Amino acid sequence: MASFQLNCPRCGAANRIPADKEGVAGRCGSCRAQLPPLYSTPRALTDATFDAFVAAYPGPVLAEFWAPW
Ligand SMILES: [Zn+2]
Repeated sequence: MASFQLNCPRCGAANRIPADKEGVAGRCGSCRAQLPPLYSTPRALTDATFDAFVAAYPGPVLAEFWAPW
């Protein structure tokens, strides 16, 4: 199963995040601190969801804007 590595923002421990847990906030296996949700695939956001997602996400966000015209 694919997995990703996320370093804990509190203690720096490396945490393995299974790919099927994408977008789920977990806990550090070392210090039990809350880990931010990890996204490895693009999220489709709208005018209604963009501001809340970016404001709540604790890390950097890469945004690509496009329009159908
Ligand atoms: Zn930790």
